[in-house]
This record gives sequence, structure tokens and C-alpha cells, in this order.
Amino acid sequence: MSKHIPQRMCVVCRSMIDKNELIRLIPEGTQLIIDEKQNILKRGIYICRSSECAEKAKRKKIFSKILRKNISDQIYEEIKEYAAR
Ligand SMILES: [Zn+2]
Repeated sequence: MSKHIPQRMCVVCRSMIDKNELIRLIPEGTQLIIDEKQNILKRGIYICRSSECAEKAKRKKIFSKILRKNISDQIYEEIKEYAAR
């Protein structure tokens, strides 16, 4: 029996991808933090590890829309850096 890997949807491109291939983000006030170990017990937001999805997210200010509040822009750069690692 193959091991079941949970999948989540990237909020930008809406692809279903293995959870551990995505970047998990947790809202914290007006910021988002990257949940590297994916174990923070809060509802997470998932995005691909790609600068393309990070750019698109930035253009659309997608996290501000999802969370219905103004999210600091720095997270988009953090995602790009993290995705490039
Ligand atoms: Zn994506």
C-alpha cells in the first residue's frame, strides 16, 4: 500500500499539490509567517514554491483578499526567497 500524502491547493494557481511541496503560511496580525515545519495549529494558507506564484500573489495582493485585511507586502519577497532555497 502506498503512503498517502495529503494534498493542498495553491491559493494562486489552484493546483492540488502534495502538502510538503507547498509553502504553508500562517496569519499573524497583519503579517504572514512561513510555517516551515507545517505544524503550527492554525489554519494555514498554501502557495507553490515558485517565484511565478509569488509574483502573481503580489500583483493580486492575494493574501489581503483572502484574509480581508491589509497584509504587509514583505511576505511576497520572503516567499520568493524561500522558494529559491
Ligand atoms: Zn501555485
